[in-house]
Amino acid sequence: MPRQAALRELRSYSDAQNQFVERTQRFAERYGIENDEALQLASIQWVLQNPDMHTACISAWSFDFIDKIVALSGTRLTAPADELLHESRSTLSTQYCRHGCVECSDSCPFDVPVSNIMRYAYYFEAHGQERHAMSAYAALGGRGAAPCMDCAGLCAGACPHGLRIQTTMLQVHDLLTLA
Ligand code: SF4
Ligand code: SF4
Repeated sequence: MPRQAALRELRSYSDAQNQFVERTQRFAERYGIENDEALQLASIQWVLQNPDMHTACISAWSFDFIDKIVALSGTRLTAPADELLHESRSTLSTQYCRHGCVECSDSCPFDVPVSNIMRYAYYFEAHGQERHAMSAYAALGGRGAAPCMDCAGLCAGACPHGLRIQTTMLQVHDLLTLA
């Protein structure tokens, strides 16, 4: 990609990210969310009360968190929590790469496993499993996001959920690769 085009893309991505941060801040203020935990507990509660869901697969990182999850059993979401989840879905939708999704794969001639790579970034950023995420990414060998560096962005517009794949891949490659 020519330098000027790359700079335009990065500026546009940066503007979109800034708008996302502003929306997220408004969202957090409206619902009094001070950390990730309230959202996580509401999400688990939504799964537990949903008759179409058989199992909630939960990562627990402390005994205190397990106590909070166990206490949710048999409870139902309050109306404000339900609204919170609904709104978080629309707020976060363009940032969240769906686990196991392959909808954009046909657009990539280099077979970059986008949703796997995004999942490793999720392990890194949301679960604090930096070492695990980086080793999983390194294990992809030549199948990581390195081809995105010189690609003309053939996957642009391929995500039905509005993710900007190339820019995000480059960012994630930087995150998961030792300098
Ligand atoms: S970027 Fe979009 S289409 Fe591609 S794997 Fe993620 S959610 Fe699916
Ligand atoms: S930018 Fe990356 S994911 Fe998109 S088509 Fe190119 S190599 Fe594939």
